[in-house]
Amino acid sequence: MRTKPLTRSSVLDVLRQLIAVPSVNPTLAPHEGQGEGNIATFVNNWFASKGVRSWSDEVAPKRFNAVAQLGEGQGAALVFCAHLDTVSTDGMSIPPFEARCEGNRVYGRGSYDMKGGAAAIMSAMAALALDPPRGKVFAALVADEEYASIGAQHFVAHYKADACVLTEPSEGSLILCHKGFVWAEIETRGRAAHGSRWDLGVSAIGKMGKIVTALEDFDRQQLRRRVHPQVGPASQHSSLIAGGSGLSTYAESCTLKVERRTLPSDSRIARGCFVHRRESENPSAARPAPADLLARRKHRVMPAHCCHFDARQTAAGSGRELLDGCGAICGSRDGHNRLWTDRRRSA
Ligand SMILES: [Zn+2]
Repeated sequence: MRTKPLTRSSVLDVLRQLIAVPSVNPTLAPHEGQGEGNIATFVNNWFASKGVRSWSDEVAPKRFNAVAQLGEGQGAALVFCAHLDTVSTDGMSIPPFEARCEGNRVYGRGSYDMKGGAAAIMSAMAALALDPPRGKVFAALVADEEYASIGAQHFVAHYKADACVLTEPSEGSLILCHKGFVWAEIETRGRAAHGSRWDLGVSAIGKMGKIVTALEDFDRQQLRRRVHPQVGPASQHSSLIAGGSGLSTYAESCTLKVERRTLPSDSRIARGCFVHRRESENPSAARPAPADLLARRKHRVMPAHCCHFDARQTAAGSGRELLDGCGAICGSRDGHNRLWTDRRRSA
Protein backbone atom coordinates (compact mmCIF):
# COMPACT_ATOMS: atom_id res chain seq x y z
CA MET A 1 0.00 0.00 0.00
CA ARG A 2 1.32 3.43 -0.93
CA THR A 3 2.13 5.91 1.82
CA LYS A 4 0.04 9.08 1.89
CA PRO A 5 2.02 11.68 -0.09
CA LEU A 6 1.06 14.72 1.96
CA THR A 7 2.05 13.68 5.45
CA ARG A 8 4.84 15.63 7.12
CA SER A 9 7.15 12.62 7.10
CA SER A 10 6.56 11.75 3.46
CA VAL A 11 7.17 15.34 2.26
CA LEU A 12 10.31 15.49 4.40
CA ASP A 13 11.46 12.23 2.89
CA VAL A 14 11.18 13.70 -0.62
CA LEU A 15 13.06 16.79 0.51
CA ARG A 16 15.88 14.72 2.02
CA GLN A 17 16.26 12.81 -1.22
CA LEU A 18 16.29 16.00 -3.30
CA ILE A 19 19.00 17.53 -1.11
CA ALA A 20 21.09 14.37 -1.51
CA VAL A 21 21.34 14.95 -5.28
CA PRO A 22 23.77 17.85 -5.95
CA SER A 23 22.36 20.35 -8.44
CA VAL A 24 24.61 23.38 -8.10
CA ASN A 25 24.14 25.74 -11.02
CA PRO A 26 27.17 25.19 -13.30
CA THR A 27 27.10 28.69 -14.76
CA LEU A 28 27.06 30.24 -11.33
CA ALA A 29 29.68 27.87 -9.89
CA PRO A 30 31.69 26.21 -12.69
CA HIS A 31 34.04 24.59 -10.18
CA GLU A 32 31.33 22.34 -8.78
CA GLY A 33 28.15 22.65 -10.84
CA GLN A 34 27.02 19.59 -12.76
CA GLY A 35 23.71 20.70 -14.18
CA GLU A 36 20.28 19.34 -13.40
CA GLY A 37 20.55 15.98 -15.22
CA ASN A 38 20.90 13.78 -12.14
CA ILE A 39 18.21 15.49 -10.13
CA ALA A 40 15.80 15.50 -13.09
CA THR A 41 16.35 11.75 -13.38
CA PHE A 42 15.63 11.35 -9.68
CA VAL A 43 12.45 13.41 -10.02
CA ASN A 44 11.26 11.36 -12.99
CA ASN A 45 11.91 8.07 -11.20
CA TRP A 46 10.09 9.34 -8.13
CA PHE A 47 7.09 10.45 -10.19
CA ALA A 48 7.03 7.07 -11.96
CA SER A 49 6.83 5.33 -8.58
CA LYS A 50 3.75 7.45 -7.80
CA GLY A 51 1.99 6.86 -11.09
CA VAL A 52 2.62 10.38 -12.40
CA ARG A 53 3.66 10.76 -16.03
CA SER A 54 6.86 12.80 -16.34
CA TRP A 55 9.82 13.39 -18.60
CA SER A 56 12.97 15.50 -18.97
CA ASP A 57 13.44 18.37 -21.39
CA GLU A 58 17.05 19.23 -22.25
CA VAL A 59 16.88 23.02 -22.41
CA ALA A 60 20.61 23.44 -23.12
CA PRO A 61 23.53 20.97 -23.13
CA LYS A 62 23.41 19.11 -19.79
CA ARG A 63 20.70 21.42 -18.46
CA PHE A 64 17.36 19.70 -17.81
CA ASN A 65 13.83 20.50 -16.74
CA ALA A 66 11.74 17.74 -15.21
CA VAL A 67 8.13 18.10 -16.33
CA ALA A 68 5.16 16.12 -15.05
CA GLN A 69 1.55 16.16 -16.18
CA LEU A 70 -1.74 15.01 -14.73
CA GLY A 71 -4.91 14.98 -16.81
CA GLU A 72 -5.46 15.31 -20.51
CA GLY A 73 -8.81 17.10 -20.41
CA GLN A 74 -9.91 20.30 -22.06
CA GLY A 75 -10.25 22.24 -18.81
CA ALA A 76 -7.90 24.87 -17.47
CA ALA A 77 -4.22 24.07 -17.13
CA LEU A 78 -2.44 24.88 -13.87
CA VAL A 79 1.35 24.85 -13.44
CA PHE A 80 3.24 24.32 -10.22
CA CYS A 81 6.77 25.62 -10.74
CA ALA A 82 9.97 25.23 -8.74
CA HIS A 83 13.62 25.31 -9.72
CA LEU A 84 15.98 22.39 -9.28
CA ASP A 85 19.30 24.25 -9.32
CA THR A 86 20.98 25.71 -6.25
CA VAL A 87 23.72 28.18 -5.53
CA SER A 88 27.19 26.84 -4.70
CA THR A 89 28.24 25.18 -1.46
CA ASP A 90 31.13 27.60 -0.90
CA GLY A 91 31.41 28.67 2.71
CA MET A 92 29.04 26.06 4.08
CA SER A 93 30.11 24.61 7.39
CA ILE A 94 27.81 21.57 7.28
CA PRO A 95 27.72 18.65 4.83
CA PRO A 96 25.73 20.28 2.02
CA PHE A 97 24.08 17.18 0.62
CA GLU A 98 23.23 15.31 3.82
CA ALA A 99 19.91 16.71 5.01
CA ARG A 100 19.77 17.08 8.76
CA CYS A 101 16.49 17.57 10.60
CA GLU A 102 16.62 19.34 13.93
CA GLY A 103 13.30 20.07 15.55
CA ASN A 104 11.25 21.85 12.94
CA ARG A 105 14.18 22.74 10.72
CA VAL A 106 15.97 21.02 7.85
CA TYR A 107 19.60 21.87 7.06
CA GLY A 108 21.28 21.21 3.70
CA ARG A 109 22.04 23.01 0.42
CA GLY A 110 18.83 23.94 -1.28
CA SER A 111 16.55 23.02 1.62
CA TYR A 112 15.29 26.60 1.68
CA ASP A 113 15.83 27.73 -1.90
CA MET A 114 14.10 25.78 -3.12
CA LYS A 115 14.06 22.03 -2.81
CA GLY A 116 11.48 22.48 -0.06
CA GLY A 117 9.16 24.02 -2.63
CA ALA A 118 10.01 21.29 -5.14
CA ALA A 119 9.23 18.60 -2.55
CA ALA A 120 5.88 20.29 -1.88
CA ILE A 121 5.04 20.25 -5.60
CA MET A 122 6.08 16.62 -6.09
CA SER A 123 4.03 15.56 -3.08
CA ALA A 124 1.02 17.55 -4.28
CA MET A 125 1.24 15.92 -7.71
CA ALA A 126 1.38 12.47 -6.12
CA ALA A 127 -1.69 13.32 -4.04
CA LEU A 128 -3.55 14.66 -7.08
CA ALA A 129 -2.71 11.48 -9.00
CA LEU A 130 -4.89 9.57 -6.53
CA ASP A 131 -7.87 11.75 -7.52
CA PRO A 132 -7.01 13.37 -10.85
CA PRO A 133 -8.50 16.81 -11.57
CA ARG A 134 -10.56 17.56 -14.65
CA GLY A 135 -8.23 19.95 -16.41
CA LYS A 136 -4.46 19.61 -16.65
CA VAL A 137 -1.91 20.10 -13.91
CA PHE A 138 1.77 20.43 -14.76
CA ALA A 139 4.78 20.30 -12.49
CA ALA A 140 7.57 22.39 -14.02
CA LEU A 141 10.75 21.63 -12.08
CA VAL A 142 13.10 23.83 -13.99
CA ALA A 143 16.80 24.48 -14.51
CA ASP A 144 18.87 27.59 -14.02
CA GLU A 145 16.68 29.90 -11.98
CA GLU A 146 19.76 30.97 -10.06
CA TYR A 147 21.41 32.39 -13.18
CA ALA A 148 19.46 33.10 -16.36
CA SER A 149 16.18 31.15 -15.99
CA ILE A 150 16.71 29.21 -19.20
CA GLY A 151 14.58 26.39 -17.78
CA ALA A 152 11.54 28.59 -17.17
CA GLN A 153 11.97 30.24 -20.56
CA HIS A 154 12.04 26.86 -22.26
CA PHE A 155 8.95 25.68 -20.39
CA VAL A 156 6.78 28.68 -21.27
CA ALA A 157 7.90 28.44 -24.89
CA HIS A 158 6.73 24.83 -25.17
CA TYR A 159 3.71 24.45 -22.87
CA LYS A 160 0.46 26.40 -22.62
CA ALA A 161 -1.19 27.06 -19.26
CA ASP A 162 -3.77 29.30 -17.64
CA ALA A 163 -2.16 29.91 -14.27
CA CYS A 164 1.04 29.21 -12.41
CA VAL A 165 1.98 28.91 -8.76
CA LEU A 166 5.64 29.26 -7.85
CA THR A 167 6.61 27.77 -4.54
CA GLU A 168 9.68 29.88 -3.83
CA PRO A 169 10.18 30.34 -0.09
CA SER A 170 8.21 33.32 1.16
CA GLU A 171 7.45 32.50 4.78
CA GLY A 172 3.92 31.58 3.83
CA SER A 173 3.16 34.97 2.28
CA LEU A 174 1.81 35.62 -1.18
CA ILE A 175 4.17 37.61 -3.36
CA LEU A 176 2.50 39.61 -6.10
CA CYS A 177 5.44 41.47 -7.55
CA HIS A 178 9.21 41.61 -7.44
CA LYS A 179 12.07 43.62 -8.86
CA GLY A 180 14.09 42.80 -11.92
CA PHE A 181 17.82 42.98 -12.24
CA VAL A 182 20.51 43.92 -14.71
CA TRP A 183 24.16 42.90 -14.53
CA ALA A 184 26.77 45.13 -16.12
CA GLU A 185 30.52 44.81 -16.59
CA ILE A 186 32.78 47.85 -16.77
CA GLU A 187 36.44 47.74 -17.80
CA THR A 188 38.98 50.48 -17.38
CA ARG A 189 42.32 50.48 -19.20
CA GLY A 190 45.58 51.87 -17.84
CA ARG A 191 49.19 51.63 -18.96
CA ALA A 192 51.41 48.91 -17.54
CA ALA A 193 54.76 50.04 -16.15
CA HIS A 194 57.19 49.21 -13.36
CA GLY A 195 55.90 50.46 -10.04
CA SER A 196 58.68 53.04 -9.84
CA ARG A 197 57.79 54.62 -13.19
CA TRP A 198 55.16 57.12 -12.16
CA ASP A 199 56.05 59.04 -15.31
CA LEU A 200 54.95 56.15 -17.55
CA GLY A 201 52.39 54.11 -15.63
CA VAL A 202 48.65 54.71 -15.45
CA SER A 203 46.67 52.60 -12.98
CA ALA A 204 43.44 51.16 -14.34
CA ILE A 205 42.45 50.47 -10.73
CA GLY A 206 42.81 54.14 -9.88
CA LYS A 207 40.48 54.98 -12.75
CA MET A 208 38.00 52.42 -11.56
CA GLY A 209 38.00 53.92 -8.08
CA LYS A 210 36.41 57.07 -9.43
CA ILE A 211 33.72 55.01 -11.18
CA VAL A 212 32.95 53.01 -8.03
CA THR A 213 32.56 56.24 -6.07
CA ALA A 214 30.29 57.73 -8.74
CA LEU A 215 28.13 54.59 -8.78
CA GLU A 216 27.80 54.69 -5.00
CA ASP A 217 26.72 58.33 -5.19
CA PHE A 218 24.20 57.51 -7.96
CA ASP A 219 22.76 54.69 -5.86
CA ARG A 220 22.42 56.82 -2.74
CA GLN A 221 21.29 60.06 -4.32
CA GLN A 222 19.18 58.89 -7.26
CA LEU A 223 18.09 55.27 -7.13
CA ARG A 224 17.02 55.09 -3.50
CA ARG A 225 14.63 57.96 -4.14
CA ARG A 226 12.84 56.04 -6.87
CA VAL A 227 10.36 54.05 -4.81
CA HIS A 228 7.75 51.65 -6.15
CA PRO A 229 4.75 51.27 -3.82
CA GLN A 230 5.07 47.50 -3.70
CA VAL A 231 8.73 46.62 -4.10
CA GLY A 232 10.41 49.64 -2.54
CA PRO A 233 13.42 51.57 -3.87
CA ALA A 234 15.65 50.81 -6.82
CA SER A 235 19.25 50.05 -5.91
CA GLN A 236 22.60 48.97 -7.28
CA HIS A 237 25.92 47.82 -5.91
CA SER A 238 29.43 47.01 -7.04
CA SER A 239 29.63 43.25 -6.57
CA LEU A 240 32.91 42.00 -8.07
CA ILE A 241 36.19 43.67 -8.97
CA ALA A 242 39.44 42.35 -10.43
CA GLY A 243 42.53 44.03 -11.78
CA GLY A 244 46.31 44.36 -11.73
CA SER A 245 49.06 41.81 -12.23
CA GLY A 246 51.60 42.47 -9.49
CA LEU A 247 52.36 44.58 -6.47
CA SER A 248 55.06 46.53 -8.30
CA THR A 249 53.25 46.96 -11.59
CA TYR A 250 50.86 49.69 -12.68
CA ALA A 251 47.57 47.91 -13.39
CA GLU A 252 46.88 47.69 -17.11
CA SER A 253 43.23 46.74 -16.71
CA CYS A 254 40.49 46.54 -14.13
CA THR A 255 37.06 44.97 -14.39
CA LEU A 256 34.07 45.82 -12.24
CA LYS A 257 30.76 43.95 -12.17
CA VAL A 258 27.69 45.84 -11.08
CA GLU A 259 24.20 44.66 -10.24
CA ARG A 260 21.19 46.94 -10.52
CA ARG A 261 17.82 45.97 -9.08
CA THR A 262 15.16 47.49 -11.29
CA LEU A 263 11.60 48.72 -10.78
CA PRO A 264 8.67 48.16 -13.16
CA SER A 265 8.89 51.90 -13.89
CA ASP A 266 12.49 51.55 -15.10
CA SER A 267 11.09 51.08 -18.55
CA ARG A 268 14.32 50.88 -20.49
CA ILE A 269 16.01 48.41 -18.17
CA ALA A 270 13.09 46.79 -16.41
CA ARG A 271 13.99 43.32 -17.55
CA GLY A 272 13.09 40.72 -15.01
CA CYS A 273 10.43 42.64 -13.14
CA PHE A 274 7.28 40.78 -12.32
CA VAL A 275 4.09 42.55 -11.33
CA HIS A 276 0.86 40.68 -10.76
CA ARG A 277 -1.47 41.58 -13.60
CA ARG A 278 -3.97 43.45 -11.51
CA GLU A 279 -1.24 45.13 -9.49
CA SER A 280 0.31 46.47 -12.66
CA GLU A 281 -2.96 48.08 -13.64
CA ASN A 282 -3.00 50.15 -10.47
CA PRO A 283 0.40 50.01 -8.80
CA SER A 284 -0.28 52.90 -6.46
CA ALA A 285 -3.45 51.40 -4.99
CA ALA A 286 -3.56 51.58 -1.21
CA ARG A 287 -4.59 47.93 -1.00
CA PRO A 288 -1.58 45.82 -1.93
CA ALA A 289 -3.46 42.89 -3.43
CA PRO A 290 -6.83 42.12 -5.00
CA ALA A 291 -9.45 42.09 -2.28
CA ASP A 292 -11.08 38.90 -3.46
CA LEU A 293 -7.75 37.13 -3.42
CA LEU A 294 -7.05 38.13 0.15
CA ALA A 295 -10.56 37.29 1.26
CA ARG A 296 -10.37 33.79 -0.10
CA ARG A 297 -6.90 32.95 1.15
CA LYS A 298 -5.74 33.33 4.68
CA HIS A 299 -2.27 34.29 3.53
CA ARG A 300 -0.30 37.36 4.33
CA VAL A 301 0.86 39.30 1.27
CA MET A 302 4.51 40.25 1.20
CA PRO A 303 4.26 43.53 -0.70
CA ALA A 304 7.90 44.54 -0.95
CA HIS A 305 9.69 41.34 -1.67
CA CYS A 306 13.06 42.05 -3.20
CA CYS A 307 14.15 38.68 -4.54
CA HIS A 308 13.96 37.59 -8.15
CA PHE A 309 12.17 34.43 -9.19
CA ASP A 310 11.09 32.69 -12.36
CA ALA A 311 7.85 34.63 -11.98
CA ARG A 312 8.52 37.03 -14.83
CA GLN A 313 9.16 34.22 -17.28
CA THR A 314 6.08 32.26 -16.31
CA ALA A 315 3.85 35.34 -16.19
CA ALA A 316 5.07 36.47 -19.59
CA GLY A 317 4.58 33.00 -20.99
CA SER A 318 1.06 32.40 -19.73
CA GLY A 319 -0.17 35.97 -19.77
CA ARG A 320 -2.49 34.98 -16.95
CA GLU A 321 -2.62 34.94 -13.19
CA LEU A 322 0.44 34.03 -11.25
CA LEU A 323 0.90 33.68 -7.54
CA ASP A 324 3.96 32.97 -5.53
CA GLY A 325 4.65 31.61 -2.15
CA CYS A 326 1.73 29.24 -1.77
CA GLY A 327 4.05 26.37 -0.90
CA ALA A 328 3.22 24.01 1.89
CA ILE A 329 6.60 24.66 3.43
CA CYS A 330 7.89 28.00 4.51
CA GLY A 331 11.34 29.12 5.43
CA SER A 332 13.64 31.54 7.15
CA ARG A 333 15.33 34.62 5.79
CA ASP A 334 18.90 33.76 6.55
CA GLY A 335 20.16 32.03 3.47
CA HIS A 336 19.83 29.07 1.19
CA ASN A 337 20.56 26.25 3.59
CA ARG A 338 17.92 26.16 6.29
CA LEU A 339 14.26 25.40 6.04
CA TRP A 340 11.49 25.51 8.59
CA THR A 341 9.06 22.71 8.18
CA ASP A 342 5.99 24.30 9.61
CA ARG A 343 4.39 27.72 9.69
CA ARG A 344 5.60 28.68 13.13
CA ARG A 345 8.00 31.58 12.94
CA SER A 346 9.93 30.92 16.12
CA ALA A 347 13.50 32.12 16.38
ZN1 LIG B 1 14.85 30.25 -5.56
